[in-house]
Amino acid sequence: MSLTVLMNAGPWLSVPPPGYGGIENVVATLVPELRRLGVRVVLASVDSSTLPVDEKIAVFDDGQFHALQRPYNQVCGISQAHLGGVVRALHARDDIDLVHDHVEAVGLATLAAMGPQAPPVLHTLHWDLAKHPDLYGNLDGGDRVRVNGVSAAQLARAPRALREHSVGHVHLSTPLAVDADRRPRPDKGDYLIILGRINPGKGQDVGARLARRVGVPLVLAGPVGPYHRPQDLAAAGDEARQNPDVRFFYDEVAPHVDGDLVRWVGTVAGQERDDLLAGARASLFPLRWEEPGGTAVVESLALGTPVVATARGCLPELIEHGRTGLLTADEDELADLLLAASVLDGDECRREAATRFTPAVMARAYVGLYEQVRQTAARPLQPA
Ligand code: UDP
Repeated sequence: MSLTVLMNAGPWLSVPPPGYGGIENVVATLVPELRRLGVRVVLASVDSSTLPVDEKIAVFDDGQFHALQRPYNQVCGISQAHLGGVVRALHARDDIDLVHDHVEAVGLATLAAMGPQAPPVLHTLHWDLAKHPDLYGNLDGGDRVRVNGVSAAQLARAPRALREHSVGHVHLSTPLAVDADRRPRPDKGDYLIILGRINPGKGQDVGARLARRVGVPLVLAGPVGPYHRPQDLAAAGDEARQNPDVRFFYDEVAPHVDGDLVRWVGTVAGQERDDLLAGARASLFPLRWEEPGGTAVVESLALGTPVVATARGCLPELIEHGRTGLLTADEDELADLLLAASVLDGDECRREAATRFTPAVMARAYVGLYEQVRQTAARPLQPA
């Protein structure tokens, strides 16, 4: 296939990311599969990115994520500077067949404003679409700019103008899904896990309360704001409370963390993360928001760990109730489901992941969307 895609991963983190980094992980998972399918990839990222690509564009040497702690007026130029580099590259060359953009808000706004001479654009929406009503409600990308979601549920809540630009959704994937059904069955421990940023939307407070009620050990794994280890959070003192997720942790979650039945282990990565997830009886998503994509959900399936969750956002699309997990709309019922989770078969979860959530499945879906977007963009203008 002779297709050159400018993959815009943004200025925040290198690709692959050094630790936590949802969008950068998606790009790092997608690009090798696209290249295997013959797509040439020009990566717009930061210079420290190490992902093998055909070419790289960067304005910044390193990821700028640390700057996000600063006030808005000291941060807002960073993504614009990065997009400036992308726009200059697009003006200077004519070999880019399509831009696949992942940069929240400013990526879509800038690329849509470039006008008809610019290449077709597919902008992937990785976040909650209620966030930018002014931008999304007034979007006009003509025939050249299209968006895709990471679940059907996410797009269903999008403002109409955004939905009119949509070419549908592509579920997230994980490299752990490759041959997931052929790996040896993991040994299960007697604990539940919540893997994710500690945040009101992810509902760790609800999970901790329910685990204590039914007496099943619960491991909370994930960062609290910018703090990855309990000792780092403790060392930061009262100043850390400026971060809303830190306040949530101290006020709502920490009172349940007794270091025994409920433990917060901080961010886990690599093999440690996989072993912890694979060893859990179930992974729990006691959501208080409409989870848009759920990477941790598909990772759990790939590691043979059934999912017990609130039936919100993408969960009903990813999980089949009674087979790969247990879902409920009712918080109280979640407690019963925690106990019932052991009847589910982890092998079913691994088979599901190996079929639906591999990087190859995701890459094939994106190549299909690239073709669709290019065809729509090439349509002759209708006479007025
Ligand atoms: N994650 C991790 N270590 C942790 C907590 C989370 O590696 O301690 C990873 C998790 O495995 C997943 C990502 O962070 O790959 C979270 O993505 P998800 O879509 O579940 O949630 P988001 O944070 O993007 O809302």
